[in-house]
Amino acid sequence: MKKNSGFNTKLVHGGQQPDVLMSVNPPIYQSSTFSFKNADHGAACFAGESDGYIYSRLGNPTVRVLEDAVAALENGAGGIACASGMGAVTTVYLAYLSQGAHIVSTDAVYGASRSVLEKHFSRFGVEASFVDTSQPEQIEAAIRPNTKLLYVETPANPTITITDIALCADIAHKHGLRLVVDNTFCSPYLQKPLDLGADIVLHSITKFINGHADVVGGVIVAKTEADHKLLYNVMTSMGPNMDPHQAFLVIRGLKTLSIRMERAQENAMKIAAWLESHPKVAWVRYPGLKSHPQYDLAQKQQSGAGAMISFGLKGGLKAGKVLMDNVQLAALAVSLGGVETLIQHPASMTHSKVSSEAKLKAGISDDLVRYSVGIEDVEDLIEDLDHALSCITE
Ligand SMILES: *Cc1c(COP(=O)(O)O)cnc(C)c1O
Repeated sequence: MKKNSGFNTKLVHGGQQPDVLMSVNPPIYQSSTFSFKNADHGAACFAGESDGYIYSRLGNPTVRVLEDAVAALENGAGGIACASGMGAVTTVYLAYLSQGAHIVSTDAVYGASRSVLEKHFSRFGVEASFVDTSQPEQIEAAIRPNTKLLYVETPANPTITITDIALCADIAHKHGLRLVVDNTFCSPYLQKPLDLGADIVLHSITKFINGHADVVGGVIVAKTEADHKLLYNVMTSMGPNMDPHQAFLVIRGLKTLSIRMERAQENAMKIAAWLESHPKVAWVRYPGLKSHPQYDLAQKQQSGAGAMISFGLKGGLKAGKVLMDNVQLAALAVSLGGVETLIQHPASMTHSKVSSEAKLKAGISDDLVRYSVGIEDVEDLIEDLDHALSCITE
């Protein structure tokens, strides 16, 4: 594959090296360790003077295919694959947040990306501020002399709030910080944070990149060789590694990223517009709708609106429960970004034990429903929602 190949060519061929047996797909190198040709070769591998593999925590050829493929898609210097999205997030925190350091992050950031800072990194003297990163003045106000990272998730969950990446890169670099973007919701098909000025991009690979709800994984891509080296060293020292079988499955899922994304967002646009005119729906938040408060920014920053919709029901909590109990095609499940449609009502499901105050702080109102649109026939998805909405009687 040529370096300047198009995005779809990179999806299908990225990272793959010619195989001795000419296999079209990368083999699963299910081996914990690799032998050296002789003592000198062993010494050269350990000194980093030879490309040979040593031990799978330090690098594995199947995992490397995936790391190189995603790095090529994000236009970065190199990738670091992890056992989970949180493995990727934590590796980034560990690499840049030392004792007494401070991070500014999106308030509606993925729950665990916040709680790992508040519950665990705080034990080592790391401080965190969570602000609405769509408001640049809030970021500026939160930056302190000890701030090391600006961490942005866009679009953020479940409010679908969009943060201006290029603007954040300017703010971060003006203050000598690194900008990290969680690009899980868009995937590199719809948004390229490194091209917009970010230093590091990461994904829960569990979602759109793998796309088949059968793997948990994560990946980080650094813009520079130096950051790649640092992050790779932290990951391989701490050990949240992706395993070769996991990587093989993700390589397979990755190949169809653009066609899955295209179909899912075409469905999402139709469903969002349909929901917006439904009498039992109070509001719809989808970046492809003109009613989205940051519609223009979404148009500028993303090459598509994506496949995640949040909407509110006029009947609130009770109506949400009825909707959950009556959908038949959409699965009641957390996670997102797969070929199958998933529906979630946080107030009655994942957040049923959380106080109303804490829920509202996280942007979760009792009426909020989150819908991850899959690639089924859109008529069937609309019929499913229509039936379930018709079961709401008050
Ligand atoms: C799921 C998710 C994560 C965490 O990833 P895991 O693979 O579940 O560890 C991080 N960020 C976002 C935006 C996510 O959706």
